[in-house]
Amino acid sequence: MANELVALRGQIDDVDQQLVELFARRLKLVARVGEVKNRLGESIYAPEREASILAQRRAEAQALGVPPDLIEDVLRRAMRESYSCEREVGFKCVNPALGKVVVVGGAGKLGGLFVQLFTLSGYQVCILDKNDWANAATDFADAGLVIVAVPIEQTVRVIQQLPKLPANCLLVDLTSVKAAPLEAMLAVHTGPVLGLHPMFGPDISSLAKQVIIYSEGRNSEAFEWLLAQMHIWGARLQPVNAVEHDQAMSLIQALRHFTSFAYGSHLCTEQADLAQLLSLSSPIYRLELAMVGRLFAQDPNLYADIILSSPANLTMIRRYHTRFGELLAQLEQGNRNAFVQQFATVSEFFGDYANTFLKESRSLLAQANDSRHLPNTPAGQA
Ligand code: NAD
Repeated sequence: MANELVALRGQIDDVDQQLVELFARRLKLVARVGEVKNRLGESIYAPEREASILAQRRAEAQALGVPPDLIEDVLRRAMRESYSCEREVGFKCVNPALGKVVVVGGAGKLGGLFVQLFTLSGYQVCILDKNDWANAATDFADAGLVIVAVPIEQTVRVIQQLPKLPANCLLVDLTSVKAAPLEAMLAVHTGPVLGLHPMFGPDISSLAKQVIIYSEGRNSEAFEWLLAQMHIWGARLQPVNAVEHDQAMSLIQALRHFTSFAYGSHLCTEQADLAQLLSLSSPIYRLELAMVGRLFAQDPNLYADIILSSPANLTMIRRYHTRFGELLAQLEQGNRNAFVQQFATVSEFFGDYANTFLKESRSLLAQANDSRHLPNTPAGQA
């Protein structure tokens, strides 16, 4: 029996080795695809190609009695790897005649990512960080693009201290709020202006499918090239008016981050035993803890700035707080029916999204469960 198991495991090892060799071949081909796309100026993310690969491989898997979802999972993971490999090859430069790209705050996390992307795309890039203002006049003199990537709380002040920029220089910011920086940029510069909000942190492996929100300032024809460049990097560009952006961010960022902060603070004050919670948890709780815990591995100032960036954020959090209290009071009064009725109202509000989210979260939960046995799980738990 034991010999039979050893023999079968040996065969499985052989198959896995072949898989490794196949992935090595695939990655080599992907690197060549990256070179060709770089030459042609094509986006690293090709949604039609991705959809057609998945559809074909799913059908082939089905025919061989292999679960199509298994093949889709494996291929999606391989594609993610491909996107980061393609990024290493570099990108076509859409605007080679552009002057210097000056990134104010380019030594920071997000500014640093953009410095890297512009450099990989063949632009001449210069970083102007907080101790470099003495050189500002020379740095800005021949700038074709100035990107402001300093902390939110300092953005407007830094924009106001910019020297006069060349008339056709494009002025851009990367701040997580849009209305105030855009207004400040339009006031200090008469040339083209664009507000950007990358909806990702600096730790992503590639920009494939990542959202960059943009709010038009002035002279849209003068920033078409930048949108095209970011498209080549793989980003999905989403236009929105600056005021609407800030309203949406009250829910997407300010409230979300605050509730994570409050939940983390609660666990801390209750002195919850995280190791025990993890060992007893279902994948969804583990995922929830990960979403909360990851906040506390980051810069508190960024989150304080995001939440405090507008009084409307605090008003939104206050309304949530009131609702939280009302719903809790119903339960404390033993009003089970009110809970069930409210549940039905919210289900109706979510409509088709509820089922879509149920399906999407299934694969996320399966992945959270897969990673439970990784040896590098914090403190060796779970
Ligand atoms: P960061 O603190 O890592 O970087 C900010 C950089 O700005 C630092 O290098 C700092 O030295 C520099 N700086 C500060 N004052 C300056 C000054 N007066 N002149 C020149 N440089 C100055 O912060 P970050 O996380 O990279 O965030 C930068 C901007 O990007 C913020 O506006 C933030 O809203 C936006 N953003 C960040 C993220 C993210 O996840 N980090 C995501 C989206 C948008």
